[in-house]
Amino acid sequence: MKCILVTGGAGFIGSHLCERLLNEGNEVICLDNFFTGRKDNIIHLMDNHHFELVRHDITREIFLEVDQIYNLACPASPIHYQYNPIKTVKTNVMGAVNMLGMAKRIRAKILQASTSEVYGDPMVHPQNEEYWGNVNPVGKRSCYDEGKRCAETLFMDYHNQNGVIIKIVRIFNTYGPRMLPDDGRVVSNFIIQALKGQDITIYGDGSHTRSFQYVDDLLEGMLRFMDTPDVITGPINIGNENEFRIKELADVIIEMTGSGSRIKYLPLPDNDPVRRRPDTSYARELIDWEAGVDLREGLKKTIAYFERLLTSGKKFRSV
Ligand code: NAD
Ligand code: UDP
Repeated sequence: MKCILVTGGAGFIGSHLCERLLNEGNEVICLDNFFTGRKDNIIHLMDNHHFELVRHDITREIFLEVDQIYNLACPASPIHYQYNPIKTVKTNVMGAVNMLGMAKRIRAKILQASTSEVYGDPMVHPQNEEYWGNVNPVGKRSCYDEGKRCAETLFMDYHNQNGVIIKIVRIFNTYGPRMLPDDGRVVSNFIIQALKGQDITIYGDGSHTRSFQYVDDLLEGMLRFMDTPDVITGPINIGNENEFRIKELADVIIEMTGSGSRIKYLPLPDNDPVRRRPDTSYARELIDWEAGVDLREGLKKTIAYFERLLTSGKKFRSV
């Protein structure tokens, strides 16, 4: 039995990860400051004697004894990470320093939840790990994109300079149950709008693309990568290679929910990447992994989740 720390463990991806790690017989410490995470996401784990919850902000030091760390703490949706951009940079940079310092002291293996945003608005398509990206350092998305890029640098330097065992995973757009209904991300927005019969808000003309990965595929990729030999650091892309236009996503969600919603076109936000699709050849070769959940299959579970949430009448605080 390993003792595993999941920072950001009460968030969307983190809560699924805590659950999966517990199911595999591990001891799990979930650390979260509840900025975008919710107790509801982990309430069902609270009775498990192998689960502990720590309310803490990773921009501050902490001392824990664990075997592995998954560093997920960081708001992920544009409206949340742009709410307090300085805090987003601090979470990425100071948080990484604190977690890496702890990993160094206790000799724990540490995985960083990096992002496809390190490629920015890419000039290379699809994006492979060799590509250095096209990122605006002074734009609205910079606190997140540059914060995550600096975190990757810190991870690599702690590895090279101090021998810390690191794993860098570049996560592409991921969706599933437990996304926040008000987080402004495209999958949650469209589903909520469709279920409520509101206009579906497409930013731009709907021709820009993303590749959507169901959360279970991501977890499988992260766990397999954590188990690779110590010399393997990544970065590794983990994402679904099926690329969709945003308009196509809107049409599928309208059809699957049977909604009467109409499409409303709004301006595309600044620096919004035009195309995004991962090249996951490295993941196939190294960990025999590729995303297996088809968009409609994943959307079915996500729509069912949001339907339950809306009928429960639960209120969510918005930042
Ligand atoms: P999320 O917002 O649901 O989860 C982030 C969690 O981190 C929340 O529980 C939040 O309260 C917590 N947190 C934020 N700042 C913190 C701090 N300073 N100290 C402690 N806890 C803090 O987002 P998510 O979608 O679950 O994303 C998890 C991780 O995966 C993030 O690091 C994100 O950048 C990365 N990622 C996600 C996606 C995606 O599509 N969901 C894509 C690329 C990368
Ligand atoms: N988007 C949209 N309508 C929405 C929310 C998002 O058209 O209501 C677009 C957004 O401009 C972006 C894409 O969908 O081009 C994915 O947005 P999201 O915030 O989910 O992820 P990210 O931009 O971080 O990849």
